[in-house]
Amino acid sequence: VFSHVVRAPEDPILGVTVAYNKDPSPVKLNLGVGAYRTEEGKPLVLNVVRKAEQQLVNDRSRVKEYLPIVGLAEFNKLSAKLIFGADSPAIQSNRVTTVQCLSGTGSLRVGGEFLARHYHQQIIYIPLPTWGNHPKVFTLAGLSVKTYRYYDPATRGLDFKGLMEDLGSAPSGAVVLLHACAHNPTGVDPSLQQWEQIRQLMRSKKLLPFFDSAYQGFASGSLDKDAQSVRIFVADGGECLVAQSYAKNMGLYGERVGALSIVCKTADVAGKVESQLKLVIRPMYSNPPIHGASIVAAILRDRNLYNEWTIELKAMADRIISMRHQLSDALRARGTPGDWSHIIKQIGMFTFTGLNAKQVAFMTKEYHIYMTADGRISMAGLSSRTVPHLADAIHAAVTR
Ligand code: PMP
Repeated sequence: VFSHVVRAPEDPILGVTVAYNKDPSPVKLNLGVGAYRTEEGKPLVLNVVRKAEQQLVNDRSRVKEYLPIVGLAEFNKLSAKLIFGADSPAIQSNRVTTVQCLSGTGSLRVGGEFLARHYHQQIIYIPLPTWGNHPKVFTLAGLSVKTYRYYDPATRGLDFKGLMEDLGSAPSGAVVLLHACAHNPTGVDPSLQQWEQIRQLMRSKKLLPFFDSAYQGFASGSLDKDAQSVRIFVADGGECLVAQSYAKNMGLYGERVGALSIVCKTADVAGKVESQLKLVIRPMYSNPPIHGASIVAAILRDRNLYNEWTIELKAMADRIISMRHQLSDALRARGTPGDWSHIIKQIGMFTFTGLNAKQVAFMTKEYHIYMTADGRISMAGLSSRTVPHLADAIHAAVTR
């Protein structure tokens, strides 16, 4: 009965790793997936995560019962504080509902399904380009996906004029997906002044912000700084949605731990919204897993662990920034033609190199360097040892 099923293509991002795993070359380099690697090229479990896990293991009173549909209450509370700020008036007036979801992706999906059921406008605008999973997540949630201009290939920076024009002509009430910081794949973020202009335009047109916060702390090294975009929207008293992920900033990728917050106008509305979120979640996966959320809660509740986390987080962010400088220096040393200043200017885990699909294919074939076809490279996958190899490959690709 399944013989008619056609083989689906590999996921454009995760498929890069599939191809990488098949390559026997000793010099192969995977810059596809956005997962942090140490200078030695190894995955990193944060020390603070190990400590929190040890605490959990030592606590014999802990059981493996189901969590409630909305997840671990303390985790939800602390997650809201992390993104909105400890003194957020929205939290103090109980206008926020936060539910634990399956990392960032699950939070986006639950938010999308809620909007499709309960929000009057079914159109969501996503940036062009954006993380490849966004259009699929929101389409399958039942929303109609449109794009707004975001990136200008000529400047390798923000197309602010295009962004403002497209949001300016969006239908009233449309949902707008915004990357809270460290835009993926471009590494290009609006300045604070530009965020303020975006906020004014969106509020005047009653556009509903849906923030995707997958890199808080990873962009600048400061958790508060990376949350500023979200906070200026919340400060005006209006509604918004936020999907948070702990994959990158705590290195909890495979634990699938994240949160969806919906900021409402009143506490009464927030309570009703939460009751409907439960109806979205219950038939989807019933309730979320307990382990990752317990790790996060243990770290966020304890001042010492929290401080230790911020230090480890900053070290990851700083290593990525240092990779940007090293790659830029290596290209300059080789006299590689073109302006590569965007490598340093772009923010977060990725550099949007500007290399085209042909050049990427050449680098994969000849240099065993794996990345997405749009020329996005994960700076977190680089090390001082591998920068020269990448620089050689880029140089060869653009001078060929
Ligand atoms: N949004 C963006 C922009 C991302 O880059 C990612 C991870 N690559 C996610 C969401 C979701 O990640 P996860 O589901 O692993 O938290």
